[in-house]
Amino acid sequence: MSNSNPLKLRALLIDLNGTLHVGSETTPRAVQALERLRSARIPFVFCSNNTRDSSERLLEKLSGMGFTVKRDEVMTSLGACRQLVDDRGLKPYLLVSPSAKEEFGHISHSGQYDSVILGLHEESLSYGPLNTAFRILKGEPLHPPSSTPTPPGPSHSANPPSPSIISPSASLSTSTSTSTSTSTSTPASTSTPTRSHTVSASSSPSPPRPRLIAPHASLYHQTPGTAQLPAGLSLGIGPFVRALETATDIQAELVGKPTRRFFELALERLQAVQGGIGRLEGRDVGVVGDDMINDLGEGARDLGLRRILVRTGKYRSGIENGDHPPDAVYDTFADLVDAIL
Ligand SMILES: [Mg+2]
Repeated sequence: MSNSNPLKLRALLIDLNGTLHVGSETTPRAVQALERLRSARIPFVFCSNNTRDSSERLLEKLSGMGFTVKRDEVMTSLGACRQLVDDRGLKPYLLVSPSAKEEFGHISHSGQYDSVILGLHEESLSYGPLNTAFRILKGEPLHPPSSTPTPPGPSHSANPPSPSIISPSASLSTSTSTSTSTSTSTPASTSTPTRSHTVSASSSPSPPRPRLIAPHASLYHQTPGTAQLPAGLSLGIGPFVRALETATDIQAELVGKPTRRFFELALERLQAVQGGIGRLEGRDVGVVGDDMINDLGEGARDLGLRRILVRTGKYRSGIENGDHPPDAVYDTFADLVDAIL
């Protein structure tokens, strides 16, 4: 066991799936390693791009695997989506799992959807729901004329079992934003409009375009074996996000890893939970994960975080040899902890 802490790390941002566990199986010695970190008073925050589970469900799963995790130590991309919805007062159509919908359970509205949120959920990523999302984004009708509700329409939940109302010609939102973000990390309030709206001389302003929001756009992830399929890489939500972008000419806003904003929020959370070890600079903080792009990508580089790759989860030989190699590579998360303590 090393005692050198070669990167002089004082705190960690830790990926979950692929790093601490794969599916419901922990990576080697991960539970004990986390306890050692806690005992050594090395602060950490979990940063997950999990889009299947609500925060509550995620905590239950981690606890079931033996991890001791406090609620304020967990940041998820779904939680970042919820924050965005709350901040902007959006009315999203949710293409997410029932568990993930719990994250948005506080939202109810009458009227029309003004946004689509995509998560990884097999049933939601079938043609019917995807086509509904496409129609919302394109402002196309969902119902025959005879059944088209008259605005403001009946009350309904933000997460109905099936789409129930859209009036494409009506104003979509009271949001003041009129642009679609061109950035994966820039709030829409400061983003640059990507498309002009044709406004006639006597008309009122065009309604804001619907927004396409995704926790992330990861192309694939490692999944455990099932009765139907051995363990291996499986398709992520990224290709579905790209499909809707291509079909609608609306660029998705990504809010999870690896956006700079997500990591900034994670650092703020880290500072809040770290319990008095003083101000942390980017170089003091290691971000650890199994994905060079989504765990260790753009935002982590921008903020000067120490980027640490583990050879578990979706890791495949040679992925560290790209344009932005990591600061360190360890076989497992536990090996990293051995090197720090
Ligand atoms: Mg991962």
